[in-house]
Amino acid sequence: MNPYDTYVMFVRLRQGVVGERERVVHVVPAPDAAIPESDTLTAYCGAELARADVDYLDSANKSFPCFACLVAVPLPVAPNLPPPPPAGV
Ligand SMILES: [Zn+2]
Repeated sequence: MNPYDTYVMFVRLRQGVVGERERVVHVVPAPDAAIPESDTLTAYCGAELARADVDYLDSANKSFPCFACLVAVPLPVAPNLPPPPPAGV
C-alpha cells in the first residue's frame, strides 16, 4: 500500500449522543472501496463509533481533538525526498 493511499476522515459524535465534553474530533481511516462498510467506524484511538451517531467534519479544528487519535494516526511518507543533511552541517 502506498502511504499516500491512507486517507483519513474527521468525525465527532452528534450533539445529544454524549455530553459536550466527550464530543472530541476523532480521526478514522477513510473507507476502503474493497472492504464492505460496517455500521461502525473505528477511530485510531480505538473508539468504536456508530456511523449513525457521528457528524463528518472537513477538518480537525472544529472542536477539541482526540489527542489519542492524533498520536496514533499514521503520518504520510513523502517518497522521493532527498535524504536529510548530515548532522552538524
Ligand atoms: Zn479518538
